[in-house]
Amino acid sequence: MNDEPADRARRGFSSRAILAATRAPEMRQRPTAVPIYQSATFATDDAEELAEILAGGRGYTYARIDNPTAAAMAAAVAELEGAESGFAFGSGMAAIHAALLATVRAGDRIVSTRAVYGSTRTFFDRMLARLGVQTTYVDATDVEAVGAALPGARLLYLETISNPTLVVVDVPTLVERAHRAGALAVVDNTFASPYLCRPIELGADLVIESATKWLGGHSDVLAGVVSGGEPLMSEVRAVAVDTGGIIAPFSAFLVLRGIETLAVRMDRHSASALTLARHLEGVDGPRRVTYPGLASHPQATVAQRLLRAGGGMLAIDLVTRAAALAFIDGLSIPDRTASLGSVRTLAVHSATTSHRQFDAAALAAAGISEGLVRFSVGLEDVEDLVADVTAGLAAARSVVPA
Ligand SMILES: *Cc1c(COP(=O)(O)O)cnc(C)c1O
Repeated sequence: MNDEPADRARRGFSSRAILAATRAPEMRQRPTAVPIYQSATFATDDAEELAEILAGGRGYTYARIDNPTAAAMAAAVAELEGAESGFAFGSGMAAIHAALLATVRAGDRIVSTRAVYGSTRTFFDRMLARLGVQTTYVDATDVEAVGAALPGARLLYLETISNPTLVVVDVPTLVERAHRAGALAVVDNTFASPYLCRPIELGADLVIESATKWLGGHSDVLAGVVSGGEPLMSEVRAVAVDTGGIIAPFSAFLVLRGIETLAVRMDRHSASALTLARHLEGVDGPRRVTYPGLASHPQATVAQRLLRAGGGMLAIDLVTRAAALAFIDGLSIPDRTASLGSVRTLAVHSATTSHRQFDAAALAAAGISEGLVRFSVGLEDVEDLVADVTAGLAAARSVVPA
C-alpha cells in the first residue's frame, strides 16, 4: 500500500531493514500445513476496515483477540467435537478458567463431580469461592445424588473419564438432568479426547480439552480448548480477550500436528492399555486394576456405550504409598514425571503429584488410595511394557512383602 518499490530507495537503512524484514511473501500457492503466524498484529488496507474488525467484524487485528494459527487449531478441535465453534487457550486450566468465568457469577452454585482434576478443584474452592461462587461435590456415578444437588445450581461440571480413578460418568443422562434443572452442563473431556467421546453430541453446552494431553500427544506443548455453541462461545471469547490466556501460534501448530494422528495414536494407546490391563488383572500384586475397557470396571456398561475404546489411561492400586513409589522406581520405560497423553508411557503416583492439593479426607472421598499408580500407556511395543510392569511389581514386593 504505502510501500511502493520506488519509495524504498530513498529511505534510510533502518527504515528499509524494518520494512524489508516484515513484508509477507506474496504467493498464489497455498501451504499444505497451517503456517505459524508469529505476528502480534495484523494490518488492514485502510483504517476503516481495522475499525470494522475491532467492532466485531470478521478478520484479524491483534493476536490476543485472535490469531490465524490459533483459530485454525480451535476450529479443528471444534469440528471434531461436533461443536459450532471453539477457542484455543495457552493451557487446559486457562480454558477451564475462561469457560467458568463466562458462565458463573457471584451467588451461583456449581455441582461438580468429586472425581475432578486437582487444579480444577483448587480453582473452584479457592478462586471461585472468593468470588462468591460455591461448589457442591457429588458422586457423579450416582445419577440420583446429582439430581438431588442440582436444584438452584447454575452449572453441572463433569469429567468424561476422571483423573486418576478412571470413573466413567453417564454424560447424556446427567446432561439431561442438568438441563431439566435449568443448569448448564460443562464437560472436561481431556481423558477421552474427541476420538473416544464427544460430549457436545450428547447435549453438553461446553466441552473442555487440555490439548496438552492426547490432542497434542507428544508432551511438548501446553494448550487448551473450549468448544460449544453460540451465544455461549461468544461469552468465552470475551473472557479470553479480557483475561489474555490465549495460545501461542507455535503451540497451536504443534496441536494441529498432533490432531492429524490422534485416531491412530488413540487406537494404539487403547489396544496396548487393554493388553496391559488384562495382564495386570491376572498377576499377583495389584489390589485392583481399573481400566474402562475391562468388564470388571465399575461403570463398564456406561463405558461401552459412551466410549469408542477404553483409552490410554489405566490405574492400579498397590495399597500403600511405599509400594506404589517402589513400583514406579522399578520401571525402566516411563520417565518420572507428572503428565499423561504422550507417545511415551508415563506412570505417576497420584496422591503426591496430580492430586497433591487433596488432603487425606479429600483423597479418600475421591476414592484415591495412597497406593494408586496411574498409567498413561504410550506407543512402545506392548511386550516391553508388560515386561516393565513385571519388574515394577517385583520391586514393589521387595519393599513391602505381601
Ligand atoms: C491436565 C489436565 C487439565 C489441565 O490442563 P493443563 O493443560 O495442564 O493446564 C485439566 N483437566 C484434566 C482432566 C487434565 O488431565
